[in-house]
Amino acid sequence: MTAPLQRGFEVTCAGEPGRVVPVIDRNRCEAKEACVQVCPFDVFEIRPLEAGDRAALSLLGKMKAWAHGNRQAYAVRAVDCHACGLCIKACPEHAIRLVPVPAP
Ligand code: SF4
Repeated sequence: MTAPLQRGFEVTCAGEPGRVVPVIDRNRCEAKEACVQVCPFDVFEIRPLEAGDRAALSLLGKMKAWAHGNRQAYAVRAVDCHACGLCIKACPEHAIRLVPVPAP
């Protein structure tokens, strides 16, 4: 089965872990926890923004991060992602995309 996801990227055969990982746009995430709530595989956690991630934010991103307590979603168990796409649909900030894992 082929499912269209964010920005034209398509994932085939959703259901097997290790084929894709979720990537979070740090300039968009507002720690609203929708991904934490919907992920069936407990991939996400809301954590304090890491220093390197904060330094890389745009000016607007820094202002948004400050407004939201400098906390964001992190894919702490990305290897458990089954490519179901629920987090992409749930994120109100359109901050998540799935990226293929390179073949070993
Ligand atoms: S695509 Fe599905 S399994 Fe993967 S992180 Fe998002 S909600 Fe979890």
